[in-house]
Amino acid sequence: MPKIDRVRNIGIVAHIDAGKTTVTERFLYFSGRIHKMGEVHDGEAQMDWMPQEQERGITITAAATTLAWRGHELHLIDTPGHVDFTIEVERSLRVLDGAVVVFCGVGGVEPQSETVWHQADKFAVPRIAFVNKLDRVGADFDGVVAQVREKLGAVPAPIQIPIGLEDRFRGVVDLVRMRALLWEGGPDDLPIEAPIPADMADAARAAHERLIERAADFDDDVATRFLEGKPIEPEAIVRALRRGTIACKVVPILCGAALRNRGVQPLLDAVIDYLPSPVEVPPIEGTHPTSGEKLVRRPDDKEPLAALAFKVQMTDQSRRLVYLRIYAGTLEPGDDVYNARTKRIEKVARLLQVHANRRERIDRAGAGTIVAAMGLRDAGTGDTLSSPRKPISLESIEAHEPVISVAIEPKTVADKEKLDASLVKIADEDPTFRVREDAETGQTVISGMGELHLDIVVDRLMREFGVEGRVGKPQVVYRETIARTAEAEARFERRAEEEAIFGQVRVRVAPSPRGSGVAATSEWRSDPPLPPVPPEYIQLALEGVREASQAGPLAGYPVEDIAITVLGGEVREGLAISVGYKVAASEAFRRACKEAGPLLLEPIMAVEVVVPEDFLGEVLGDLNQRRGRIEDVAFRGAKRVVRVKVPLRRMFGYSTELRSLSQGRATFTMQFAERDVADGAAVG
Ligand code: GDP
Ligand code: MG
Repeated sequence: MPKIDRVRNIGIVAHIDAGKTTVTERFLYFSGRIHKMGEVHDGEAQMDWMPQEQERGITITAAATTLAWRGHELHLIDTPGHVDFTIEVERSLRVLDGAVVVFCGVGGVEPQSETVWHQADKFAVPRIAFVNKLDRVGADFDGVVAQVREKLGAVPAPIQIPIGLEDRFRGVVDLVRMRALLWEGGPDDLPIEAPIPADMADAARAAHERLIERAADFDDDVATRFLEGKPIEPEAIVRALRRGTIACKVVPILCGAALRNRGVQPLLDAVIDYLPSPVEVPPIEGTHPTSGEKLVRRPDDKEPLAALAFKVQMTDQSRRLVYLRIYAGTLEPGDDVYNARTKRIEKVARLLQVHANRRERIDRAGAGTIVAAMGLRDAGTGDTLSSPRKPISLESIEAHEPVISVAIEPKTVADKEKLDASLVKIADEDPTFRVREDAETGQTVISGMGELHLDIVVDRLMREFGVEGRVGKPQVVYRETIARTAEAEARFERRAEEEAIFGQVRVRVAPSPRGSGVAATSEWRSDPPLPPVPPEYIQLALEGVREASQAGPLAGYPVEDIAITVLGGEVREGLAISVGYKVAASEAFRRACKEAGPLLLEPIMAVEVVVPEDFLGEVLGDLNQRRGRIEDVAFRGAKRVVRVKVPLRRMFGYSTELRSLSQGRATFTMQFAERDVADGAAVG
């Protein structure tokens, strides 16, 4: 394993179809990791290894892989573009130190690239960009650079400009070293170095000056030499830009055509030159799992272990793989690790380096690396694993709440057990996927992020687990809330065997702002002040209301955006502490909710439709019928972009409808925005 400053943990992110998987395949090929290039459109890309991915030509699970370049070790995560799988992008960004953002040279900055860009902003992930597909008709490098500035609000620094475009795209001018790199039949697709073509000399000189001006912002020495008109070494330009990139203040931009093997080697160079090693990112912060004290761990092998589990995967042999980002310390097979969530110690049996669906055993992993561990039984996505003697808890990974569900039934009764077991395994891997039993119908209900998400689950059930399921119609996942404040009380009294069970509790419920969740507190005071109320009563009552809030009074959906206060109750002296208080509290909660004007909350989606002007009228008319709230209609090149908020239940089947409305010329993306009160009459 190389020294830590020679490691890069990076992701490749972009809009679907921009060419992420194609770029990744080239990375693997040119670094000697694979010997035959698989193409996405042949269903043979190495990184898209699930059968569902190969058939549909899309990336679903983020696959991790490792490759070597110029004496460095690159850990690479290929991430999916479809919004149904944003959790994959989100958790990848969380553990990566840098990202390569791929843009299509024709499509430019598309909606999904904007989403991913803002996710990367959130985690302050340094970025470089690659403008791909310059061989395609309509490719426009300068246009994409302008979009990076205008749409993403970033500071682009092109370190290359293309030589020729479309079918005349031959190579690039390297603006740092002022030379041409041509891919024209060199051995092994290596670029041939050449002088800058004469007809590009002026443009290249001007672009070089602009680049130095940019670099000067991050290095005083470069700034002084630039002002004095003195020559500046390429190494100084790289050093200055590297500093700006790591501080997320500038984005170096490269270009090429990955499918034609053009521009890939300089992109690998740029990963090493501009993106940070794990020791160049700020130390990770966390808290002590019990005392809550703030702790910091530097990315150093000598520090106590601090690792974040960011992904769980089942292998073909049903072994559980837990992907870890090691922020500090080292890990070896046989080590005990402390899980801050479960407060238990687990043992790591094996450590593996993962290459798509193949794995190699390793005997040690140091700070800054990404590895997979076997033998961990409880650790799940978002858990911190640390040294049992020096425990730490890192911030967990935000799981998105599922918005859509379907009932699923096994084809045969015999399959029921297998179905349940398989669903539990899938849920273990995927924090955005949930399984529950419907209390009334006894049906198994699965929920997730969208129709495609659940489709893939059903497909996997059949192929990987051999269970056939009958699937119902997709349903929206609702929540419940209340309209106003109300109070109620309940009493519970029963004689069981020799024991008297008693409880009496008064509860108040009040609405709280959207997105605030559930807060349960107690204002229970002893009255009269002596004897004091045993704290156990209060605990039981709080447990009671929290459990009851899981199933609301309207339709049994969890209650949200509510402040619950346990106000008090009768405490009988000499009576044993009993669950009576829990039962009474949950009944009081239900009564209070019924008084408080219960409401259904439904998921509202942020939808973006990109449509040629000619079809704008039809698209808007249709969105109005779906009760869409149009927020903005903007220009994007020759097309119009409609941003609109629409209730999810009105978006079922939209892709088919949009295709027929626009003769297949419009596209859309959709993601969860918020929950809002459903207009009651229409809820079905
Ligand atoms: P992803 O969805 O971002 O992973 O994109 P893919 O790598 O799957 O690529 C989408 C499609 O674009 C595939 O059919 C690729 O063959 C094609 N593609 C990728 N790179 C290029 C390129 O440089 N030029 C052209 N013309 N097509 C490309
Ligand atoms: Mg892909």
